[in-house]
Amino acid sequence: MFHLPSTETLMDSTTATAELGWTVHPPSGWEEVSGYDENMNTIRTYQVCNVFESSQNNWLRTKYIHRRGAHRIHVEMKFSVRDCSSIPNVPGSCKETFNLYYFESDVDSATKTFPSWMENPWMKVDTIAADESFSQVDLGGRVMKINTEVRSFGPVSRNGFYLAFQDYGGCMSLIAVRVFYRKCPRVIQNGAVFQETLSGAESTSLVAARGTCIANAEEVDVPIKLYCNGDGEWLVPIGRCMCRAGYESVENGTVCRGCPSGTFKASQGDEGCVHCPINSRTTSEGATNCVCRNGYYRADADPVDMPCTTIPSAPQAVISSVNETSLMLEWSPPRDLGGREDLVYNIICKSCGAGRGACTRCGDNVQFAPRQLGLTEPRVYISELLAHTQYTFEIQAVNGVTDQSPFSPHFASVNITTNQAAPSAVSIMHQVSRTVDSITLSWSQPDQPNGVILDYELQYYEKDLSELNSTTVKSPTNTVAVQNLKAGTIYVFQVRARTVAGYGRYSGKMYFQTMTEAEYQTSVQEKLPLIIGSSAAGLVFLIAVVVIGIVCSRRRGFERADSEYTDKLQHYTSGHMTPGMKIYIDPFTYEDPNEAVREFAKEIDISCVKIEQVIGAGEFGEVCSGHLKLPGKREIFVAIKTLKSGYTEKQRRDFLSEASIMGQFDHPNVIHLEGVVTKSSPVMIITEFMENGSLDSFLRQNDGQFTVIQLVGMLRGIAAGMKYLADMNYVHRDLAARNILVNSNLVCKVSDFGLSRFLEDDTSDPTYTSALGGKIPIRWTAPEAIQYRKFTSASDVWSYGIVMWEVMSYGERPYWDMTNQDVINAIEQDYRLPPPMDCPNALHQLMLDCWQKDRNHRPKFGQIVNTLDKMIRNPNSLKAMAPLSSGDILRVGVTLAGHQKKILNSIQVMRAQMNQIQSVEV
Ligand code: AMP
Repeated sequence: MFHLPSTETLMDSTTATAELGWTVHPPSGWEEVSGYDENMNTIRTYQVCNVFESSQNNWLRTKYIHRRGAHRIHVEMKFSVRDCSSIPNVPGSCKETFNLYYFESDVDSATKTFPSWMENPWMKVDTIAADESFSQVDLGGRVMKINTEVRSFGPVSRNGFYLAFQDYGGCMSLIAVRVFYRKCPRVIQNGAVFQETLSGAESTSLVAARGTCIANAEEVDVPIKLYCNGDGEWLVPIGRCMCRAGYESVENGTVCRGCPSGTFKASQGDEGCVHCPINSRTTSEGATNCVCRNGYYRADADPVDMPCTTIPSAPQAVISSVNETSLMLEWSPPRDLGGREDLVYNIICKSCGAGRGACTRCGDNVQFAPRQLGLTEPRVYISELLAHTQYTFEIQAVNGVTDQSPFSPHFASVNITTNQAAPSAVSIMHQVSRTVDSITLSWSQPDQPNGVILDYELQYYEKDLSELNSTTVKSPTNTVAVQNLKAGTIYVFQVRARTVAGYGRYSGKMYFQTMTEAEYQTSVQEKLPLIIGSSAAGLVFLIAVVVIGIVCSRRRGFERADSEYTDKLQHYTSGHMTPGMKIYIDPFTYEDPNEAVREFAKEIDISCVKIEQVIGAGEFGEVCSGHLKLPGKREIFVAIKTLKSGYTEKQRRDFLSEASIMGQFDHPNVIHLEGVVTKSSPVMIITEFMENGSLDSFLRQNDGQFTVIQLVGMLRGIAAGMKYLADMNYVHRDLAARNILVNSNLVCKVSDFGLSRFLEDDTSDPTYTSALGGKIPIRWTAPEAIQYRKFTSASDVWSYGIVMWEVMSYGERPYWDMTNQDVINAIEQDYRLPPPMDCPNALHQLMLDCWQKDRNHRPKFGQIVNTLDKMIRNPNSLKAMAPLSSGDILRVGVTLAGHQKKILNSIQVMRAQMNQIQSVEV
C-alpha cells in the first residue's frame, strides 16, 4: 500500500502571468519571449541563437528560490535545441548543449555583477544535451520538438539558491523550468501513522521515520519504522501495531473500531470481532468479552468463546438398597446438565439416630466406594454405618460452575435406616501368658460391636498344618486359655464376636508360640524368688512380665528359625515392653515456649478448618466442632478450642502450652492433637472430636444404662491412658471424670492438659481451691499433694480412685455436698468414700488401694490395668457386691445431719469398711 511519491514545487516558470524578469548577461544573449507550449498555452520562454558569432558566453539567472527545508533540489527543464548541421554555413563553434548551475545563498543578494558570471563561484550541475533537435523544417515554419530533462543536486543547506543556464554558442529555447523537491507523504501503514517526511540529500539516501500506533492499536513489534527514499517513496517497513482487544481493524487497516454491541474481541490482533457465545451479552461497545446472563456462569478454565453454562438440576430416581450396615445408592443423571459435561456427584451423609437432636454429619468411619466426593458414575457403595441408625444421604449434582453459583447444588435425598448388623472384626489380640501346652490370649472389643456381644469364638490350628484341622473354642469374655497344645509350636489364631445379629468377621491371623520345655524350666526358676512377698494382684502382673521377658529373650534365636512370623509375634507382644520409652518434656522448660509449640504441635493452615458449631466454653474461649481437611487426607470431625481476642501474651502462651503437652502423646486413650492454628486469628487448638463429650456429664445423662463390664471397660481405658502418661513421666494433677472425654464407641480418653487453672490468679472455679502455691481440686487430690504439693503419678493414682468412684456412681459428686475442709479432715481421719450403689466389691477394693495414705502402697497404673483386665476376663469376680451400706445410705445421713454428724457417720462407715477389707484379705 505504497503511496505515490509526492513533490513540492519551489518555482515553476509556466505559472508566471507576467514577465519572468530573470537576469541575463550579456544583454545580447538570452532574451525573454512569449510563446506557446504543446497545448498551445501561452508561456514565457527564454531564447538564444548567436551561432554565427564567436566566443559566446550567455548566462541566464533565475530569481532567488527559497529552499523550504528541502535537502535535494530537482530541476525539470523543457527546452528545444537547433541541430547545428541543419543550419547552412554554420561555423564549427555551433553548440547543441547548455550548462546548468546553482548558487546557494541565505539571502537574495544577487546583483547584475554578483555572483560573477563564471563557473566559480557557481556550482555546475550538468551539461544538458537535447535528445532530439529540431532539424526538420516545414513550410509554415519550424516544427517544435521539446526535450524534457530533469537534474537534481544536493545537499543544499542555505535558505535559498539561484539557478543559471549558460549557453556558449547554441540555438535554443528554454521553454519551461520547474524546481521542486521530493517527499514521502503522511501514510498509515502496519497500523501506524508516519508523518510526511522529506527525502534525503542524496538520491540514494533513506530517511528513517518512526511511526506511532493509530488510536486503539498497540505495538506488536518495535521499533515501528519506514524509510523514505530519494524518490519520495516509503520503503522497508519494520514493526507493526495491531488493534487491541475490543477493537477490530477496518477501512483498509487505517482505523481500529470498537466491536459493535453483541460482539467481542478477546485479544489484540488482526482478527475481527465475533458474536457473543450463547447465554452471554455485552454491556458496551468495544467489549473484550461477553458477560454471562443472570444464572449462567463460566468456569475458570472455560474459554471466552464457550457458551455460559449453569448448575445441573438434581439427580433423579435414587434407588437405595440397605444390607445390614452398608448401602448401595444408584441414581439417574440430572435432566438438565446446565450445558456442561463435567458433571460429578458428592454424597453428604447425615446420621439422625444419635439422640443428640437434629441430624449431624456422619463421622469419619463411614466408608464410600469409590469415594465420597467427585463421583463420576451415578452410584456409590457406603459401608461401616452404625447398626439401627437413621441416615439421610444427599446426592449433590455438581459441575464446573457450581462454585460460582450463589445457590447450593441441587440434590436428591434419600432416608434409610440400617439393619441389625454383626459386629466388626476384632483388630488386635494379645498374648497374656503361655506354658509348654497352653497359651492365654485376650483381645479388645470390636470397634463396632453393633449390639451386645454374647460371646467370642476362637479358631486355631498348628501353623504347619492345614486350616481344615482347626479347633474352635467359645468364650463369654474377651480372653481364653487354650489348652492341650504342643510344646514349642507356632499356632495360628483368629477370633470373632457374636451378637444377636450373628457372628462378625474373623480377625486377621495372629501367630503365637508355646514354650519349649527348656524355656519353661528357665522361667520357673526365674519366677520363684519374685513370687515370694508379692500380693495376689502383683503376682499376676509379675508373672506376665517374666513370661514376656522370656518371649523377648527367646526372640533372637527364633528370628533365625522362622522370620516370616517374627514381625507378627513382635507386633503382638510389643505392647508389653517399653524399650526406650519417650519422656515428657515440660514446655515451660523451654526458654521460648513458642519453640515448644513449634516442636510438638503441627501448624495447620486455617483454610483447612471448617468451624461448624459452638459446643462449649473453655477457659480461654469457645470450644467448637467442625471439620478438618488436610491436603491428601480424609476430612475428619474435630473439636476446635479457640483463644478469645484481647488475650495477653501470657494467656496465649498458657493456652498453647496445652497443645505442646498434648502433642507429645500418642495413645488410644489420650486425646489426640491434630494441630494448632497460630498464624491467623483466632489462635486455635484442634483435636479429635469426642462425640459424647465429657465423662461426668455423659454418665449423669445415662444413669444406670451400662453393664458393669462396660463401666469397667471405660475405667480400663482411662487407666491405660494414665499408664502411658505415667510411663512418660507426665503427672496429670487434675485427673477427674470431667477431664475424660468419651467418643461414640464409648472409648474414654484422658484430656485437659492445661496448666492455668492451678495458678493463683485464676478465676473462681469452686472445684479448684487456693492452696499455698496454687489451686487444687481438693476432692480429687491425694493428701500429700494438698499438704505439701507432692504431685506424683502416685497422687494421680489417688485421683484415679476418685474417677473410679465417679464412674461407678454414674457421675455423683465425690463426698457429695461436704465442704472441702470437711473432706480434708475426713481423709486425715482415714475416712474413705464407700462403694457406690451396685458397685462390685472388687472395684471398691481397687479404689481403696488407690486411696492408701502411704503413696508407696498405692498400685501403679500398670497394675491397675492388669487388675481390670483380669476382672474383664473373669466377670464372675465382679458378681460380689460391696457388702456395706451403700453410698445412698450415707448420703441421706449427710444430707439430714450437720457437719459433726456427717464426719462421725463417715468415720463409722470407713472403720467398718476397713474391718471388712482386712477380714477379706486375711
Ligand atoms: P475444656 O476447655 O477442655 O474443658 O473444654 C470445654 C468443653 O468443651 C468440655 O467440657 C467438652 O464438653 C467440650 N470439649 C472439649 N474438647 C472436646 C473434644 N475433643 N471433643 C468434644 N468435646 C470437647
